Amino acid sequence: MTAHGREGLANSDGKGGTKGPMSVIAGLTAAKATLELTTKVMDLLNRPNVDVHAVRGHVQEMLIHVVNAQVALGEAHVEISDLRHELEDREAIKALEADMDFRVDGGFFVRKSEAQKGLIAYCPVCWKKDGHTIPLRTSETPGWYHCSVHNTVFETAASREYQRRQAIAGSRSPGGGSGSWM
Ligand SMILES: [Zn+2]
Repeated sequence: MTAHGREGLANSDGKGGTKGPMSVIAGLTAAKATLELTTKVMDLLNRPNVDVHAVRGHVQEMLIHVVNAQVALGEAHVEISDLRHELEDREAIKALEADMDFRVDGGFFVRKSEAQKGLIAYCPVCWKKDGHTIPLRTSETPGWYHCSVHNTVFETAASREYQRRQAIAGSRSPGGGSGSWM
């Protein structure tokens, strides 16, 4: 991994609600209140003359707390899954950043994971500015690449040398151009 590959997307994003733990706390509070009311109800039921009115009131209160707990836990579930997706996205970006390797000769990026596939070059502007991995267009000239988004040409030293020789060959044999004089 090169110095260029690091700073890329590190500062993107950073927002995300702080209400995450709140819904869990609300759920716990509601559950605690329900338990406390259960104790009260049991106490009332254990008395010789059961106060039905008081028991009913406590049971209704318990129902409200249970519904609140259900809502709060539902919210917590959604928040946790959102955070999990965010984490997966960040890990994917980190893995991609580690995979992108800057080539000084040519001034473009390649992916370490694609080393077996031959040279697939990526536009440094597309990658560093927008976070997009857009393969550069190739041509019949080896080492010559073009970004169709930015209309920029990238050439390796070998490509420039190849073109120089082609030009010399072309000037020596006007009919051809592809002939090698070496
Ligand atoms: Zn580009």
